[in-house]
Amino acid sequence: MSAVTPEIQQRLEQLKQQLLKANYAYYVLDNPIMEDSVYDKLYRELQDIETQYPKLIAPDSPTQRVGDKPASQFTSVRHNIPLYSLENAFNLDELAKWQERWRRVTPDIKEVEYVCELKIDGNAIALTYENGILVRGVTRGDGVTGEDITQNVRTIRSIPLRLNLETPPPVIEVRGEAFLPLDEFDRINKEREQAGESLFANPRNAAAGTLRQLDPKIVDKRRLGFFAYTIYIPNDDLLKSQWEALNYLVEMGFVVNPHRKLCPSLEAVDEYCQDWETQRRNVPYMTDGVVIKINRFSLQEELGFTQKFPRWAIALKYPAEEAPTIVKQISVNVGRTGAVTPLAIMEPVHLAGTIVQKATLHNSDRIAQLDIRVGDTVIIRKAGEIIPEVIRVMHELRPPNTQPFQMPTHCPECSSALVRPIGEAATRCVNSSCPAILRGSIVHWASRDALDIRGLGEKVVILLIENGLVKSIADLYELKTEQIASLERMGTKSADNLINAIALSKIQPWSRVLYGLGIRYVGSVNAKILADSFPTVEQLSEASIATLESVYGIGSEIAESVHDWFKIAANQTLVRRLQAAGLQLAASVSKKDKSTQKTTALTGKTFVITGTLPTLKRNEAKDLIEQAGGKVTGSVSAKTDYLVVGEEAGSKLEKAQELGITQLSEAQLLEMLR
Ligand code: NAD
Repeated sequence: MSAVTPEIQQRLEQLKQQLLKANYAYYVLDNPIMEDSVYDKLYRELQDIETQYPKLIAPDSPTQRVGDKPASQFTSVRHNIPLYSLENAFNLDELAKWQERWRRVTPDIKEVEYVCELKIDGNAIALTYENGILVRGVTRGDGVTGEDITQNVRTIRSIPLRLNLETPPPVIEVRGEAFLPLDEFDRINKEREQAGESLFANPRNAAAGTLRQLDPKIVDKRRLGFFAYTIYIPNDDLLKSQWEALNYLVEMGFVVNPHRKLCPSLEAVDEYCQDWETQRRNVPYMTDGVVIKINRFSLQEELGFTQKFPRWAIALKYPAEEAPTIVKQISVNVGRTGAVTPLAIMEPVHLAGTIVQKATLHNSDRIAQLDIRVGDTVIIRKAGEIIPEVIRVMHELRPPNTQPFQMPTHCPECSSALVRPIGEAATRCVNSSCPAILRGSIVHWASRDALDIRGLGEKVVILLIENGLVKSIADLYELKTEQIASLERMGTKSADNLINAIALSKIQPWSRVLYGLGIRYVGSVNAKILADSFPTVEQLSEASIATLESVYGIGSEIAESVHDWFKIAANQTLVRRLQAAGLQLAASVSKKDKSTQKTTALTGKTFVITGTLPTLKRNEAKDLIEQAGGKVTGSVSAKTDYLVVGEEAGSKLEKAQELGITQLSEAQLLEMLR
């Protein structure tokens, strides 16, 4: 074990304080100050430090206690059996590790069944029945002592006041989750908004607040739900497993969540968890994961409990959309427009199913607003496909001696002085031959919505630029297979594929070419509008600002930007070279004008395509052939002129061989098209 440094000691103290504060807000005030996922991650960090330095574990550490003591006017009740928390797993690997851990304790057990239950995001309550009659309802509290909320519990319709048993045992304790259905949560918050009251942060807090209402009439109006999941019957060994217990709860008159599943292996558990990661949005209540329990009670008993959790159960939490991490470095990236974007380089963190280690900080104003520094703990968010963003800095967790970040004054790529135009948030490199700008422009040119050149990603672009093969977009069209094949990590096959993919971009329509040029403010939608209104590059380049602006959807910023772009001599040269290379700088000839198309080697010929081609998709190959005047049919016959053959070609190849039809590889087809 390494020595405890003052930095570790300080981090531990900061984490403890932060988590205790969060616990109080969450459990006592029902008003959380951070996302659960953020809490979970900070908690894990504290746990990791404590595992590494067990001497540092203090009895008041949040890792040693369940929940918090409620501060309420209700009578305190000590639980006969504590209400434990659950250990968390954040992915399927951690779930497998949990299985390994408990298996080490009971190495003789070979097979095992698990029960999967949805983890309902509500509040655990314990109900006591004496001779079949509900006598007490108690909150979990800190797990040892809870509050007597019997009057409120009686208002919950899914909790039976009398059990459906002919000869009930003298005492039964049932535990489960009280929760607010989502529509009820929305209704209550709407009402509160109208009454000018503060809103509940989430259904869990709303349920907690409701259970601890002093007036049972209010509780009655808020339709809480209840799913039962545990039963204790003193001195009874009738029930042998969790699955039996759940079914018995149903017989007694409780509602048990219907989406439970008995799984014969961990693989089946994984499948259930993956399934529910999306399905959870279809149930009318909040769930925050899946609870996995070992089914057999005798095995549960053998494994027992830690101070805080049962060893025989675990909660798999759904991927977080917000998480804390630590900034290791702030670097800047120069984009294709010369805009200099600061980026936070962070400790890698799991977020919404991916590992994230970079987040945009947008510009220097945003940095100043966040007051973000190297060493800071930050909260990052990723919703859907959006680039991760730093949304907050946890200044409370800042280490000593940090320095504010200064934007560089010179371009990190070409060393020329950076400028910040008046009225703009972005700092820019204005050197048009800056390698970062060239790199960004080519990556943009090759991107999916532009010329969609497969295999021309950033790494290959860097390779081409560094080896002096490409100094302009137009140079791409003069590349030779041998030049690319001689580059590091490129063989003849990948070189061939790249040349073909580049050649293929020549059929992309004018609107995509225009978007690919990367003119400022001309996104793919504007490019389409402009290409529709100006069918040739000549018409567009000669248009005045007023003419451009007269196009519906084109504002003055775009009009000026387009107009200025075409005035620059280097851009005019680029357009001429692209035209010479055969790119579509005009709208394609419409179908009715086909008669004016020139004749090619493909005119009037019939093609069949079979198997998977190395770079072209079937429909792309079909389009190319048809544009060149050929015809594509689905089956080989005596009328077929050519069979284009890809990998794993099937019976069409056999038939073509029988009929002696000429076969073409993709490369030969492209050659013919050229
Ligand atoms: P927990 O919520 O992670 O798990 C235990 C609880 O799960 C049980 O008490 C029970 O209420 C519930 N549960 C739901 N369905 C269940 C089922 N089918 N079977 C068994 N139990 C089921 O543990 P916890 O100790 O209540 O709370 C810790 C969690 O609370 C943290 O992981 C964090 O996400 C959240 N928390 C958040 C903050 C914050 O500031 N946002 C603060 C403290 C705690």
